Amino acid sequence: DIDAIAKAAAGEGDLFVGGRWLPATDGRTFPVFDPATTEPIREVSAASAEDARDALRVAQDGFQRWREVAPRRRSEVLHAAFAAMHEHAPALARLITLENGKAYRDALAEVSYAAEFFRWFAEEAVRIGSGFADAPGGGYRHVVRKQPVGVAAFVTPWNFPAAMATRKIAPALAAGCSVALKPAPETPLTALAIVGLLAEAGLPAGVCNVLPTDRAAEVGGVWLGDERVRKFSFTGSTATGRVLLRQAADNVVNVTMELGGNAPFIVCADADVDAAVRGAMDAKMRGGGEVCIAANRFYVHADVAGEFTAKLGEAMAAVPIGPGLADGVGLGPMINQAAVDKIAGLVADAVARGATVVAQGPRPEGPGWFHPATVLAGVPDDAEIMHTEVFGPVAPITTFTDEADLLARANDSVHGLAAYVYSGDLGRALRLADRLETGMAGINRGLISDPAAPFGGVKQSGLGREGGREGIDAFLETKYLAVDWP
Ligand code: ADP
Repeated sequence: DIDAIAKAAAGEGDLFVGGRWLPATDGRTFPVFDPATTEPIREVSAASAEDARDALRVAQDGFQRWREVAPRRRSEVLHAAFAAMHEHAPALARLITLENGKAYRDALAEVSYAAEFFRWFAEEAVRIGSGFADAPGGGYRHVVRKQPVGVAAFVTPWNFPAAMATRKIAPALAAGCSVALKPAPETPLTALAIVGLLAEAGLPAGVCNVLPTDRAAEVGGVWLGDERVRKFSFTGSTATGRVLLRQAADNVVNVTMELGGNAPFIVCADADVDAAVRGAMDAKMRGGGEVCIAANRFYVHADVAGEFTAKLGEAMAAVPIGPGLADGVGLGPMINQAAVDKIAGLVADAVARGATVVAQGPRPEGPGWFHPATVLAGVPDDAEIMHTEVFGPVAPITTFTDEADLLARANDSVHGLAAYVYSGDLGRALRLADRLETGMAGINRGLISDPAAPFGGVKQSGLGREGGREGIDAFLETKYLAVDWP
């Protein structure tokens, strides 16, 4: 199975550095848990600060070699990694569900989405643009080149164990950069399996290194304090992003930050309500709601609020809940007990402030970090849930009548990642989307992530874009050559 692929090199540990599987220098390990049972799955090597430094030396060597590899060859390796992920999709999806908890069908969709980053950036690797111009004053020429920035260090979260890794690794490798990645301690196994597949796909040793650890601050501190790191890309909470941004300032490290969201989901009076409910199910329930672009708060026009609330409540409560690998399950457990407690606290606060639980699904008997799908109506704007990333299967609904008032409420957030607008009038939907302070918006669509499109936020949701034509730019430096040309 895929775990065997990850360990194909028959090493004694789980740090993948320089093409070999190594234990931590001090031998330390940490447990990874199955959220469906709360039982440990296995112990994984925990990289130390010393391991983090070693990985940079290896990655620096890897960079010197990889940058010389022809773009066409880099592209072929990424195409092979894309094919390998599809070939092993069921095993990869099982691994995602095992360590993250999400429903198997969501895990399979994630594998496909994650693999697509390899294909998209394989296609971009051979189209890295350069420019050429006559100097306006005459006498010489401008040549503008794009060069790989160098060693890229990544820190990723647990909610998409595969896609958050490939979204960073693929453009870095396409650009000619080398990589040191620290996956989340909750979900390191998928990233290890993927780097195993990359090695099989022909990626030279040392170009992509993966260091699981439960000593995140130590590893992050080493990487951001080391001049060899020329690019730092982080996906996670705004709170941690802020800490890392401060650390990045010392060496003026080029950063990409994909941070928290608080997406408004807007349903206008002229919307197709059934389509809006289907979109809301996608935007709310994918990955159990543990998604940074998940619909976080619902603004529904008063004329359709009753119908929308009833239909969404029925649909959410009907989603089969249980262990992600069980047949037919659509909602798996949350990542840990703290997540369940936080979500329950947000629901309790909303109810204390006057909201009503209008629908709630079951919670399975037995162990597991489950939270039932829940729909809240009449949620006041000052409820914590309207200002906090829920990261769970809870939909708080409020109503609106006036467009200007709606926009003010929707934009009343330090976050600005995604928004969703449902309206039968495309002009109205586009007008609202233009005025929403977010980096992305779904128009009559609940699914927006696409490796071929630029993903990212405004305000405190982040800096930079991943995916799309923009995604590779994060790993390229512009060099201008003034060429005397008599
Ligand atoms: P969450 O609360 O969802 O785990 P975090 O932003 O804390 O979100 O975690 C995202 C990633 O950031 C994880 O890989 C985690 O290990 C890592 N991380 C957390 N704190 C630090 C830190 N001080 N330095 C470097 N990485 C960190």
